[in-house]
Amino acid sequence: AQEARLRAQRMESLGTLAGGIAHDLNNVLTPILMSVQLLEQGETDAGRREILATMEGAVKRGADMIRQVLSFARGVDGRRETVSVPQLVDDLVGFARDTLPKSITVDLALDDAVSATRGDPTQLLQILINLVMNAKDAMPTGGTLRIRTTELVLEDSYSSISHLAMPGRYVAIEVEDTGHGMPPDTVEKIFEPFFTTKEVGKGTGLGLATSLAIVRSHGGFMQVYSEQGKGTRFTVGLPATSAGSGADARPAAPAPEVPR
Ligand code: ADP
Repeated sequence: AQEARLRAQRMESLGTLAGGIAHDLNNVLTPILMSVQLLEQGETDAGRREILATMEGAVKRGADMIRQVLSFARGVDGRRETVSVPQLVDDLVGFARDTLPKSITVDLALDDAVSATRGDPTQLLQILINLVMNAKDAMPTGGTLRIRTTELVLEDSYSSISHLAMPGRYVAIEVEDTGHGMPPDTVEKIFEPFFTTKEVGKGTGLGLATSLAIVRSHGGFMQVYSEQGKGTRFTVGLPATSAGSGADARPAAPAPEVPR
C-alpha cells in the first residue's frame, strides 16, 4: 500500500511537472512570436534592436528552463563514489563565505564523527548550495546561517515530507536560517516542481524538486522545519559509509531501495 501511495505521488509530481513546463514554455514562446511578427511588419533600426533584445531574453530564459528540467530528469543518474562529508561541507562553507553578504553570519557546528556517503559530489554540493541560496533569499536584511552535521540512526522507517526513509545509519547535513520562514501551507508545496513564491525571473521553483530527486536517488531523505518570522531548517540525510574506506566502500546498512 505504501509503495502504491509513493508511486501515485510520483505520478502526481510528474503531472505537475508537465503542466508547469507547458505553461512556462508558452510564456517563453509568446514574446518570441510577437517579436517575429513585429519584425515582419518592418521596423526602424532602433525598434529592431529592442525587439531582438526581447527575443534574446526569451530564448535565454527558455534555455535556462530546459537546463533545469534536464537536471530534474537526470537527478537519478549521477556518479557513485565515496564522498567525504567534511570535505563536502568545507566546499559549501567556502562557497557561503565567498557569496553571502556581510550581513549574514555563518555559524558552524560540525560533528567529527561524521564520515562519508556514496554518491555524486557535484550533485550533492549543488543541493547544499541551493539550500544556502534559498536561505540567503529568506534573509534580505541579514541574519545567521547555521550549518550543522550529525550522524543519526533511524531505527524504524521514517516518513518525511514526501519520502519514506529506510532504517539505517545516516549523515545529516542541516542548513538553517533566521529568515522569514514559511506558513504551513507553503511548506507543503515547496518540493513540487515549479512551486515558487519568488517574483518572475528570480525563482524557477525547480531547486527543491530537483534536490529531492537527487537525494532520493542517493537513498537519502529531506526534512524541513519552518516557523514564520523565525526561520527555516532543512535537513539532508544521506546513507553513511564508514570513514576512510576506499572506493569500494559499502553503505553501513543495505542501500535503501528507493521507491519510484
Ligand atoms: P525557487 O528558489 O526557485 O523559488 P525552490 O524549489 O528552491 O525554488 O524553493 C521553492 C520555494 O520554497 C521558494 O520560492 C520559497 O517560497 C520556499 N523556500 C525555500 N527555501 C526557503 C527558506 N530557507 N526560507 C523560506 N522559504 C523558503
